[in-house]
Amino acid sequence: MKITDIRATTVAVPLEAPLLHSNGAHWGRFVRTIVEVEADNGLVGLGEMGGGGQSAEVAFEALAPYLEGHDPFELEALRFKIANPTASLYNNRTQMLAAIEFACVDLIGKHLNVPAYDLLGGRIRDSVPFASYLFFRNPGPGGAVPEVRTPEQLVEHARALKKEHGFSVHKLKGGVFPPSHELECYRALAEAFPGDRLRYDPNAVLSLDEGLRFGKAIEDLDNDYLEDPVLGLEGLRAVRERVNVPLATNTVVVNFEQLAANVLRRSADVVLLDTTFWGGIRPCIKAAGVCETFQLGLAVHSSGELGIQLATMLHLGAVLPNLTYAADAHYHHLSDDVIEGGKLPYENGRIAVPQGPGLGVSLDRDKVAEYAEHYREVGDYPYDRDPSRPGWYPIVPNERWADPDSPLIPIG
Ligand SMILES: [Mg+2]
Repeated sequence: MKITDIRATTVAVPLEAPLLHSNGAHWGRFVRTIVEVEADNGLVGLGEMGGGGQSAEVAFEALAPYLEGHDPFELEALRFKIANPTASLYNNRTQMLAAIEFACVDLIGKHLNVPAYDLLGGRIRDSVPFASYLFFRNPGPGGAVPEVRTPEQLVEHARALKKEHGFSVHKLKGGVFPPSHELECYRALAEAFPGDRLRYDPNAVLSLDEGLRFGKAIEDLDNDYLEDPVLGLEGLRAVRERVNVPLATNTVVVNFEQLAANVLRRSADVVLLDTTFWGGIRPCIKAAGVCETFQLGLAVHSSGELGIQLATMLHLGAVLPNLTYAADAHYHHLSDDVIEGGKLPYENGRIAVPQGPGLGVSLDRDKVAEYAEHYREVGDYPYDRDPSRPGWYPIVPNERWADPDSPLIPIG
């Protein structure tokens, strides 16, 4: 099997409502680039990349000369062809490598007529548990979807998601409002859902002082972990020494050098593996092996996903014996998907691992065309800006919080 072509199509898929985070916002849509890698046997492998609210079409098309004639089975060679570790100092292609790796794994599975999980070690579980990923959010289009700003609104939102999807783990994405307000929100969740588990992630924008204060103030709750309360391995380590809650990161253990540093001098107890940040599904499995040896916990990170990327997270989750925490996904905030059959459903807080060959998902061509057109209409968006706060940008540690007493306005 040889690769003959690569195509990239950027789509914009609406979210139910804009999602706020410490860096700004997802402006009411996810901009994702769908990658199709075609082989000489007529098969097409699927990949996906997003991030930053920007199209990556041109970047992928520029890689066609690297890929033509490459055998998709040669995944290790692919790593060096696309993202040689020292050449990457100049061209920074890890995320593109990930999307192409997804497509090659999909091609191999389709060629052999086996699901991706069978290429990756075999499944330990048939479905993967997910956390409800709760965001503060502006109202949705036309006010049909209400804002989430106050503890009461957050609990109501979580209750609706739990009822619809069956979640029993709740992750609050914070770093938006003053920590005292977010603490009140977090504790309101704990009170509303006794027996459920919780995690809080302010995307590393708290000062050490605020991180310690927040960590201390939640020690009595059923926490999975405190995720990136402050920036950096040393910052996390300083919190970890004084707070009795496991610490997790998806920001400063995203490659093997950082994993080694965290093994030698532990800062995070739980590593959130991201199939995009780590450069593919297979590097995540390699990292999981290191975590198994050194008794680090694992979860699956979400960097925003449509059905193709979600499938990579499901196949990863299926094969990791030491996945002891629910995965994260933004998926339930999307209004639609580009895969055949529409959005993959949650059942009792879990999503079934696709059973078909390769990644087990296929494109709905009409949906791809519809959302590619939508992308042409609405375009990119700056992930690190909040359109409701003109001129604002965050600093780290942050002190420029949104006002919890002002109702959020519709954006996008
Ligand atoms: Mg995080």
